[in-house]
Amino acid sequence: MWRTNQLVGSVFTAAPAPNRSMTLFDALNDGGGNVEALLRHAVSALLSTGSQFISYPVSARWIVDQVNAALASGDPTRIENLKNQLAAWNQREANVTPPTVTQTLRAATTSPTPTSTLTVTSSTVSTVAATAAAQWVAAGAPSDLLSRVSFVVADLPAGVLAQTTGDVIYIDRDAAGFGWYTSTSASPFTTSSGGDLVAANGSLAYGRMDLLTVLLHELGHLLGLANEDAGPGRVMIGTLPVGVRRTVPTGYLLP
Ligand SMILES: [Zn+2]
Repeated sequence: MWRTNQLVGSVFTAAPAPNRSMTLFDALNDGGGNVEALLRHAVSALLSTGSQFISYPVSARWIVDQVNAALASGDPTRIENLKNQLAAWNQREANVTPPTVTQTLRAATTSPTPTSTLTVTSSTVSTVAATAAAQWVAAGAPSDLLSRVSFVVADLPAGVLAQTTGDVIYIDRDAAGFGWYTSTSASPFTTSSGGDLVAANGSLAYGRMDLLTVLLHELGHLLGLANEDAGPGRVMIGTLPVGVRRTVPTGYLLP
């Protein structure tokens, strides 16, 4: 989730120096024109893409890329045009209906410890997502699969590990309280049970949720695979037990 106290420069890297050091909240409330107006509408648009109740017409990644490109160009007309486009979408979003395609992946059990310290950052998510995407690309998915999606780390409702809405994948910050196993290494998974790989007692993945499995699942939704179907390697099952890894089997090809 975008946080209003993070700095403009952490998102809009091409913003002028004085704007980069402002918080998103300040940018949202900055009354200036041109660059300031673009940033104001861009932050509003970003926050809308992070809402589960708004179906925004473009992804957060699109907004970030387009705004940075416009700012980097230094072209006042281009900046103004993009601002006007975002302003029109922001206005329209005031009364849209919730998105219809929302799929959630839930923890199979409730966490015994409500808040784990094993949280995840968006850079870790991006790293593990690259490994997950590679498995799907090997199964015939488009090679630009990863560029079609944005990842947002958020505090999701209780029991929810991840959720895909449109082309935005939300990952729960602390894996529904269990904490994440964020390595792609399979070494903790020494046994198998019912087609799942199971982490050894006391290993780093033991008692944690496997981020790679969750990202495979959510990317599977983007490829049109449904929840509830077991799918290849059981990755599309809508619940995940702790300490379990599921992978797309080598040689599997998407329908
Ligand atoms: Zn799902």
